[in-house]
Amino acid sequence: MARVLGYTHPACLGHDTGEGHPECPERLGAVLEAVHEAFPELEWIEAPRATRGQLLRVHDDRLLAAVLTPPVRGTTRLDPDTILSPGSPEAALRAVGAGIAATEAVMHGEADAAFCAVRPPGHHATADTAMGFCLFDNIAVAAAHALERFGLARVAIVDFDVHHGNGTQAIFEQDPRVLYLSSHQSGIFPWSGAGSERGAGNIVNLPLAAGSGSEAFRKVWREQLLPALDAFAPQLLYVSAGFDGDRRDPLAQLQLDPADFGWLTAELGLLAARHASGRIVSMLEGGYALQALREGAVAHVSALLAGGPQEPSVDNPAS
Ligand SMILES: [Zn+2]
Repeated sequence: MARVLGYTHPACLGHDTGEGHPECPERLGAVLEAVHEAFPELEWIEAPRATRGQLLRVHDDRLLAAVLTPPVRGTTRLDPDTILSPGSPEAALRAVGAGIAATEAVMHGEADAAFCAVRPPGHHATADTAMGFCLFDNIAVAAAHALERFGLARVAIVDFDVHHGNGTQAIFEQDPRVLYLSSHQSGIFPWSGAGSERGAGNIVNLPLAAGSGSEAFRKVWREQLLPALDAFAPQLLYVSAGFDGDRRDPLAQLQLDPADFGWLTAELGLLAARHASGRIVSMLEGGYALQALREGAVAHVSALLAGGPQEPSVDNPAS
């Protein structure tokens, strides 16, 4: 069994997107309830706030000002889908802070892996723009922290959310220390992530057509994405864990099942064990059908728990 820590914060429930918005507080409630129920022994840690300096490694001042200056009451829109409420700054700071704290824990050997159950999600936010329900790019700020604080040379971000992580890609596409790998549905928001988008050779996108199911998903990961990850030999592995590829999700049309997320997570566990002493930091991204989200998160955490170091690492970080 791997040592896995959970990170969350009640403030993440206070980001109020308004009536009928798919990215609702009930999502996080569902994930926490299901994971608590399935793994009552899992230790949970309250996420700290990210600091301004940590955010500024990835984001510019204007975005910090926009996100951290909420309306006194009611909500404002940063774009048609992306809402700011009085509780949003605290939620956003705790969501980013979870990834930072999880990075510290796995790098210091306090855990093998960590699952950050947070919202708002992050992977669409770019250096200067909040979009697609995302205020800050939680996982990008965490990865930037790992690079700077621990002097890592190779960090990978695996994104299995049904949407392309345009923000994460844009932030790192000229930084060869970061490999970004994504499978996603083609032809939907944010309309990026073509296979031809390769950055500095450190971006691997595998778009899947609407209606693709387990077989197509596992095939691209088995034959293309996982071999690229293995060749890169990451010292630390991040996962943008979105469960909206599930067949029940209302926002997209892939036909995946919770077992697919469990399968991929187990494969990632083997790779992390081989190259990264088992170190995985996973952060919740999308997933908008509550029951699918519950089952996907449980399959994912179950595989994280089953993973961990199985062979001695040959490649420790410089620090
Ligand atoms: Zn998504």
